[in-house]
Amino acid sequence: MKLLIVEDLPHDAELMALRLADEGFVLDWQRVQTEADYIAALEKGPDVILCDWHLPSFSGQRALELLRERHLDIPFIIVSGGIGEEAAIAAMHQGASDYVLKDRPARLGEAVRQALEQQRLQRERDRAQAQLRLAERAFQHTAEGILVTDAQLRILSVNPAFEAITGYSAAEVLGKNPKLLQSGRQSASFYRDLWAALSEAGHWRGELWNRRKNGEIYPQWSTLSAVRDDQGEIINFVEIFSDISNTKAAQAQIDFLAHHDALTGLPNRSLFHERLSHALAGGRRESKTVALLFIDLDRFKTVNDTLGHPAGDELLREASRRMMGVLRETDTLARIGGDEFVVLLEAQSSAPDVARVARKLLTVLSEPMRVSGQTLVVTASIGVSLYPGDGDDADTLIRHADRAMYEAKQQGRNDVQFFTPALTAGAFERLMLENALRLAVERDELVLHYQPQLDLKSGRLSGVEALVRWRHPELGLIPPDRFIPLAEEIGVIGEIGAWVWRSACRQLAAWDGAGLQVPRVSINLSVKEIEHLGVVERMARMLRTNRLASRRVELEVTESLLMRDPERSCSVLTALKDLGVELAVDDFGTGYSSLAYLKRLPLDRLKIDQSFVHDIGHDTNDEAIVRAVVALARSLGLETVAEGVEEAHQAAFLEREGCCLAQGYLYAKPLAVAELAAWSDGREARRLN
Ligand code: C2E
Ligand code: CA
Ligand code: CA
Repeated sequence: MKLLIVEDLPHDAELMALRLADEGFVLDWQRVQTEADYIAALEKGPDVILCDWHLPSFSGQRALELLRERHLDIPFIIVSGGIGEEAAIAAMHQGASDYVLKDRPARLGEAVRQALEQQRLQRERDRAQAQLRLAERAFQHTAEGILVTDAQLRILSVNPAFEAITGYSAAEVLGKNPKLLQSGRQSASFYRDLWAALSEAGHWRGELWNRRKNGEIYPQWSTLSAVRDDQGEIINFVEIFSDISNTKAAQAQIDFLAHHDALTGLPNRSLFHERLSHALAGGRRESKTVALLFIDLDRFKTVNDTLGHPAGDELLREASRRMMGVLRETDTLARIGGDEFVVLLEAQSSAPDVARVARKLLTVLSEPMRVSGQTLVVTASIGVSLYPGDGDDADTLIRHADRAMYEAKQQGRNDVQFFTPALTAGAFERLMLENALRLAVERDELVLHYQPQLDLKSGRLSGVEALVRWRHPELGLIPPDRFIPLAEEIGVIGEIGAWVWRSACRQLAAWDGAGLQVPRVSINLSVKEIEHLGVVERMARMLRTNRLASRRVELEVTESLLMRDPERSCSVLTALKDLGVELAVDDFGTGYSSLAYLKRLPLDRLKIDQSFVHDIGHDTNDEAIVRAVVALARSLGLETVAEGVEEAHQAAFLEREGCCLAQGYLYAKPLAVAELAAWSDGREARRLN
């Protein structure tokens, strides 16, 4: 115990210390008698102060005052020869813990013990009170609604956020059952499951639809917990919830805008792709054929150029109306480009049936059309591919139908052409490519380029995305789009992926060594890699070997990849996240992730697909998507990255909308390692000038 004695007589101080030592205290003590020494001694943090009341050049009164000024709660005991009863009581009021008369030193030990105990209790009380105050502040000010009931489900307490979200005041709901908020939109069995989870696991988390006082039904994200006493009996239920109606609306808006063509209201490319994949899965299961028609209007460009865009738009709308008239409800018509349409036929897919539908489409399209006061005759060219004969995945079928359409155009337009293998003169080439690709890693033909990502606000480099290229000895630099799908197909993607990871992690470590500040490297993860078992262990090993902080590695996963096998991706991503790496959803806005699913994933970022960024300033539809994605990300607590930023006005729009990071040709193309260093030096030099 550190003891401070304020006393002018050395002998008296000595006696006090001896007394306490006799009582079993282990002491480190010091005597002072002036104000200056006392102040200095306080700095050392004594545990107890014994103080004479009258001193020649100092006083107990003053000593107490100094203690109070410093807000110190050190036990302060007056030890005095002759302090009167009254003075003693006054001193206690001023904060002294006790007093002992010099002629009754027997009480000294007990007084010290009591004062210390009192101090301990007081500190405990203060701490408990501070905690209560904090809990109360959180309860009052948090944006989440909070509801507490007793075991009989009578509402005991609600916070201001609850009142704001539900529209009910505390007075209106206290004592009532929370049932009064139910919307009736969820079934009895839903609530049964909820209660089962709550009583078994002690908590439940999920989406609930409730009704506000004004009758409006809204979605909320709720966490329910059962609170038990020491005997394990449930005494309270606590619900914490947030209103997610804005998030939901943003999601619905993104879904619609992202999957429909604003001009015609038809499904767009990504929705079509989805439906086609779905149809193919069905076809595979039931051994049925599926047909794909690729339709391109002839000379549409001429109409656009001579009569103007509004006329072109009108023509496209009329053309899609006519085609819809020919098709059945089970068929899908989509617009996937300027004047390009595709049709998916599921019910009538024998070649003669398909040919009949195609002819009908050509007929209705070629009837005269009145557009902008002019009568036009529009013809079309149609290419057809059939599953399974002409390909067994969506991309191949679309490519082959496109190829056949091109052939129809070559043959003189206004015609239908079926795909034939001869049209892909590339079959042989593909075989060669396949063999070469199998050896690419071994022969060290892959290279990584790195594209900078910048913080839109500060302009600082926030990271780089690693993009792989294949340096083919004869064909030159082959972009990933041309060999990654092939690599997936022939089963060498695992090897390529491992090479990419290894190289990117090594490179990051090398930049660190060279003093180049690259905060993070993003790596693209392919479908097949996530389905591959050892992916998590491999990542862990890579981080260890290169001694990298795991949060400096980000994995990009495309939205459509996530949705292929949501359960599996969720568990793999969670395991990867547990290693500490960051996760981004690539090409966001083109897939079909559900909000409930996104919420379950441990994500850090959404990458807005470049198709939306590209049309900023041209297409209000795409601007709305960007805006909605940023809003959605914000409500999920994620950052947004815009890809494919090419123009300064796009960057300005993105920054205004609150997008965090940007990547694109405006800043830099994907760069080889040496180019990146030069790019960085160049920026540094500009910054200094
Ligand atoms: P991604 O992940 O969406 O990559 C972005 C692509 O956009 C890159 O094409 C990049 O060069 C390009 N890009 C960047 N800024 C701009 C811009 O301002 N304008 C335009 N028009 N394009 C821009 P890249 O390098 O050809 O890569 C294509 C795709 O190949 C990537 O799309 C990614 O899905 C895949 N990929 C690339 N590297 C890897 C890899 O190591 N592993 C896997 N599994 N896939 C990869
Ligand atoms: Ca990417
Ligand atoms: Ca992307």
